[in-house]
Amino acid sequence: MTRYIGLLGHPLSHSISPAFQQAALDHHGLPVTFEAWSTPPQRLGDALARLRREDCLGAGVTIPHKETVLRLVDESDPLARSIGAVNTIINQKGRLKGHNTDAIGLLRALKEKAGFVPKDKRVLLLGAGGAARAAAFSFVRENARSVIIANRNAVRAMNLADDLSHNGTFVTAVLTDRGSLAMHARNADLIVNATSMGMRGGGAEGESPLAAELITPNSLVFDMVYNPPMTPLLQAAKAMGTRTLGGLPMLIYQGAEGFELWTGKPAPIEVMFKAGEAALAAISARR
Ligand code: NAP
Repeated sequence: MTRYIGLLGHPLSHSISPAFQQAALDHHGLPVTFEAWSTPPQRLGDALARLRREDCLGAGVTIPHKETVLRLVDESDPLARSIGAVNTIINQKGRLKGHNTDAIGLLRALKEKAGFVPKDKRVLLLGAGGAARAAAFSFVRENARSVIIANRNAVRAMNLADDLSHNGTFVTAVLTDRGSLAMHARNADLIVNATSMGMRGGGAEGESPLAAELITPNSLVFDMVYNPPMTPLLQAAKAMGTRTLGGLPMLIYQGAEGFELWTGKPAPIEVMFKAGEAALAAISARR
């Protein structure tokens, strides 16, 4: 019997997860198809019902469902509960279990691809959605010196700051006005874009969450957006001579954790990177 893994999100046109997850499944010769299930919020219930079927191993969860899904699964692991968001669902004989692999993917990408460890570092985090929650939680757990959260919806940023147990890290929510961003960007060792600004196919494609002149050369700028690979924020940072990291490594590393949860097989990281890069190149060539 062919089995399925779904990807639940909306929009999904930007996603390259089906390409690199299918490459990993094929590498192991597994009779499993990874499918993008474009899921607007009103269809989420139907998609979860589909996931409970015997032929489904589970699903990845992406924008904008990560926080909602935490409330809809039958159980979730402690990490997903602490973060308040689920990005991976496993179907265990009709019961759905939620996990969060974004946190581990983020830390691994920062360490392996930029030599960055959060301990004692000052972080400016742009965004307060599901991905930002995983990032903020990870930085606090890794004993960052400070995590400053700036989000268009200020209440959402305050709620995230309130939800973190601070563990010695200074955590606060700030406004996204130019003066506030300028001050916190100047002091940051790491600036993270966890908004969907700049994402291909999203409502703010072509836009940067931070103006170039607010970026100083002493920070590392990490954009979680991976499509396009060179986002407006990364372009701005490069123009200011600042070190940058794009979203692909985090995507592959979080996907590798998911792959192991769904299949019980070791994730073929190199195969996944190659397929991910090829999928991004193919999307760029089509435009
Ligand atoms: P989400 O839960 O829907 O959150 C979206 C975030 O973006 C919110 O903070 C939202 O602010 C902000 N935002 C959206 N449009 C905006 C605009 N026009 N101006 C200012 N802020 C805006 O989504 P998510 O799951 O956290 O994902 C966020 C981004 O990270 C997506 O691009 C996703 O592809 C990327 N991501 C990448 C990885 C990776 O592995 N590289 C992993 C996870 C996510 P409000 O609260 O004000 O609406």
